[in-house]
Amino acid sequence: MAKLRFKAIALAQSRKPITIKEKFKRSELFGKNVFNENTMRQYLTKEAFKGVMSAIEHGKKIDRKIADQVSSSMKEWALSKGVTHYTHWFQPLTGATAEKHDAFFETIENGMAIEKFGGSQLVQQEPDASSFPNGGIRNTFEARGYTAWDPTSPAFIYGTTLCIPTIFVAYTGEALDYKTPLLRALQAIDSAATDVCKYFDKNVKKVTSSLGWEQEYFLIDKALASSRPDITLTGRTLLGHSPAKGQQLDDHYFGSIPSRALNFMRDLETECMLLGIPAKTRHNEVAPNQFELAPIYEEANLAVDHNSLLMDVMGRVASRHDFKVLFHEKPFAGVNGSGKHNNWSLSTDTGVNLLAPGKTPMSNLQFLTFFINTIKAVNNHEALLRAAIASASNDHRLGANEAPPAIISVFIGAQLTQVLEELEGVTQGKLSPEEKTDLKLNVVGKIPDVLLDNTDRNRTSAFAFTGNKFEFRAVGSMANCANPMTVLNTIVAKQLKDFKEEVDALIDKKDLKKDEAIFNVLREYIKSSRNILFEGNGYGEAWEKEAKKRGLSNNKTTPEALKARISKKSIELFEEMNVMSKVETEARYEIEIEEYTLRIQIESRVLGDIAGNHIVPTAVRYQNMLIENVKGLKEIFGNNFEEHATQQIQLIKGISGHIEAIHSKVEEMINARKKANNTTNAVKKAELYCKEVKPFFEEIRYHCDKLELMVDDEIWPLTKYRELLFTR
Ligand code: ADP
Ligand code: MG
Repeated sequence: MAKLRFKAIALAQSRKPITIKEKFKRSELFGKNVFNENTMRQYLTKEAFKGVMSAIEHGKKIDRKIADQVSSSMKEWALSKGVTHYTHWFQPLTGATAEKHDAFFETIENGMAIEKFGGSQLVQQEPDASSFPNGGIRNTFEARGYTAWDPTSPAFIYGTTLCIPTIFVAYTGEALDYKTPLLRALQAIDSAATDVCKYFDKNVKKVTSSLGWEQEYFLIDKALASSRPDITLTGRTLLGHSPAKGQQLDDHYFGSIPSRALNFMRDLETECMLLGIPAKTRHNEVAPNQFELAPIYEEANLAVDHNSLLMDVMGRVASRHDFKVLFHEKPFAGVNGSGKHNNWSLSTDTGVNLLAPGKTPMSNLQFLTFFINTIKAVNNHEALLRAAIASASNDHRLGANEAPPAIISVFIGAQLTQVLEELEGVTQGKLSPEEKTDLKLNVVGKIPDVLLDNTDRNRTSAFAFTGNKFEFRAVGSMANCANPMTVLNTIVAKQLKDFKEEVDALIDKKDLKKDEAIFNVLREYIKSSRNILFEGNGYGEAWEKEAKKRGLSNNKTTPEALKARISKKSIELFEEMNVMSKVETEARYEIEIEEYTLRIQIESRVLGDIAGNHIVPTAVRYQNMLIENVKGLKEIFGNNFEEHATQQIQLIKGISGHIEAIHSKVEEMINARKKANNTTNAVKKAELYCKEVKPFFEEIRYHCDKLELMVDDEIWPLTKYRELLFTR
């Protein structure tokens, strides 16, 4: 018998839901472990409070004296909650969060000790950073890295540790993390959008980018997950035959949440409340054992931190409930993969959502300005947006079951399509008073503030307008949202900057009125952005052909997609917007390319091992059982035995064929790997892994999955899809 598999199944089936008692209202728990504005008011002196708030609101530097006051109050607050350690919490380019804990505890003279946490420890730390990916930055500059306090994301307590959100940069100033470029991009969009807002409202002083992510994930019993070497080492199944029942009945989506999973969610949500993560929605997703959690949207930097923190907390809470969370974009073939829709909008300090239609023609013109500029930005930089969501794991998901394709297009719905068509007909240059009135009353003024068709359930659009926000749906479930958010905010910032220049030029040089100038520029933008707009079904060849005609990129693999990151256009964009220097952009590219290679390399090794050491020996054992059986039949029936052994003999032959195929394919895959490993050029290497190693995965899998259907279930060593997906 396949001992490990059946033990795991027995264990999984014996689990009882872990009861969760929710003693407090969520609003009472919310933010309890966060050093937020409310806590700061209680603990900080007036001077320190003002200092931190102006750093948060206006990016003002915090001086040393204030830092000392803040650190000492933070310590006091943390100690009152039983905290013993502090850590600078940051997001290196590995995709995970990083922390190194130091105790507050320090010795003083006479064998005595105190709890200490000074301003310098709050503001800056030097983690031993040599083992974080840096894409050659530190080698080039021989510089060390340090972490620096980001006061715009509040400190929080997790367990018995005070966590201080920080950026991670080299001593020479280059970013070594996800957060630094994001903060710079948010700065860029703030300044560009505020300038544009001034056309409509002089009182606007700040524009904030908001993010509401929707995290999808699979929840698999811990014992079952760890019985599979592929899930343990790669986060996904590399083989496994589809079960007789998958998601075809659509009976999981929005169904009642299984009780073990529900208790996990309630436990998780309690943790979220304490940490100030505004978790709001939970539901079953389409695939069996697939779920989603979505919070109320927040300022983008905080939302990114909260998503990274959530992914970490989810893993720990899952473990308490004997689950493993799978964040991989495609953990199981044949059923839906997981994504992380990034809902994005811009709002002013006067409380206006710039991507929501308003009640007056003027506010609608403002809405259209931001709406059309965003479309134009996506049109200009679609390849870069695709690059921002590229990863080995997301490649499996894009274009498969329900996920958007690798082509970036924008869905806006029928009503707004019509508005754009009408604006495209606006007269060039000065407008007659009649045309102006007509535009204001009948075009701009007629946009309803609730757009009926914009709850769009057509999940195949990578970038959809959903009423008062854009939804970037191609983002992978494993991704750090900072990367797509950095790119999106940067391209829109650049676009708004160009827009402002063009409108000002028409006002100054062509003597147009402000609204005439705006209409004129928007008309040209609509004309030049036609290609990116697509309302149809994003699946299949028809759209691929059409997209090709339109000149949209369709980069199906990560090595191909990532090239757009280091195109001249992208490098100049990041430089111009002060988001990343050329060195930083190139370093990121290098890291991502290397990560791709490593992921495929690991998968290839694991697959070779499972096929050769688990599947083939099991198939041989079963074949031997059949051979014994045939021999026995021969003993009984003599020369007529074949009549009674047709099936067995066919199986014996079939098994031999698959074993032979597995052996030769694994051999060829190893040779392809060797060839790739001998290449020193990182880009070539990634391409070889993509084009020459990865294609063997499907072939090897095919034969293994066939064997799964032939071999006696009793001795099959790998936990099967039906067991992984339907154990509740
Ligand atoms: P769904 O996409 O599942 O229909 P919703 O569109 O209602 O769900 O909301 C999904 C996410 O979008 C949530 O995280 C929500 O907070 C976020 N969201 C809603 N409005 C905005 C907005 N103006 N800006 C950014 N995110 C938003
Ligand atoms: Mg959504």
